[in-house]
Amino acid sequence: MTLTGENPSFVLQKVNKVSFEERPIPEFSSPKDVRIEIKQTGICGSDVHYYTHGAIGSFIVKSPMVLGHESAGVVAEVGSGVTSLKVGDRVALEPGIPCRYCAHCKAGYYNLCADMKFAATPPYDGTLCRYYVLPEDFCVKLPDTVSLEEGALVEPLSVAVHVSRLAKITPGSSVIVFGAGPVGLLCCAVAKAFGATTVTAVDLVQNRLDLAKEVAATHSFVPTQGDSAAESAAKIKELLGGKAPQFAIDASGAAASVNTAIHALAQGGIYVQAGMGAPEITFPITEFTIKELTAHGSFRYGPGDYQLAVELVASGMVDVKKLITHRVKFEDAEQCVQ
Ligand SMILES: [Zn+2]
Ligand SMILES: [Zn+2]
Repeated sequence: MTLTGENPSFVLQKVNKVSFEERPIPEFSSPKDVRIEIKQTGICGSDVHYYTHGAIGSFIVKSPMVLGHESAGVVAEVGSGVTSLKVGDRVALEPGIPCRYCAHCKAGYYNLCADMKFAATPPYDGTLCRYYVLPEDFCVKLPDTVSLEEGALVEPLSVAVHVSRLAKITPGSSVIVFGAGPVGLLCCAVAKAFGATTVTAVDLVQNRLDLAKEVAATHSFVPTQGDSAAESAAKIKELLGGKAPQFAIDASGAAASVNTAIHALAQGGIYVQAGMGAPEITFPITEFTIKELTAHGSFRYGPGDYQLAVELVASGMVDVKKLITHRVKFEDAEQCVQ
């Protein structure tokens, strides 16, 4: 297929139906806006989920929506008030624009803004198009050493940065990460970059754990089917020489992982939920209470997370290239969501 027109866009029409559509080139809504020519986009689990289910929780696709939110590109035009970017700059796109005025925005928690306009979250169009407009402060300039492909991976890396900041991972600590999908792998890498010296990846699939070890993990663990959470936790503690981890991150959303994490944590440990699975699960509340654990939700990313993610890539502390499994032309995007 060849794409004609000025702004071909990859549109989810309805469940299991996508097509290319010519969309108008987006206009500036503020002098601080920049127009970016999109060059690389990662396909997220959420894009696939909207394709297969048409909704994630209360976000329901009611009208056709452009997919994609993990993108990098080149600045094609800048508004009259833009001071930090010029045409030709290569940028990673932070794809959610908060209202900037509510109490959460003003307190520095703009990811919690109720009026967030987030790419490819209904009803807002995503970045799988040729041109996309963002305010300059939501574009993070890429150093020359960081490729546009790596720039697209800054989005999931920022999720992992946000999780690790919420956990307040300390140097020399032991961190266990459940789920070795893209976000779990990146959580392993960021935990190590934050100074964790023991990073344990847990997954049911051995080759995902092999990749986790290549990326950052010092230990890996495959739970035995049929073991209880307490039994798995005991095996993990044994694997770690009798020392329970102080930090646990769940990037799987699986009930068994959440339960095992709570059982595996040391007294006073910190737990962060990064993955989404079943909306409700049973939870080991007694174990949680008597160990005096702290639990934190985590949603997208906030101030400084994107910038730190770019720094981690630029400094070589996190190698995101290991996560690239397939390279597909824009016109063949449908292969990625099927
Ligand atoms: Zn994503
Ligand atoms: Zn707000």
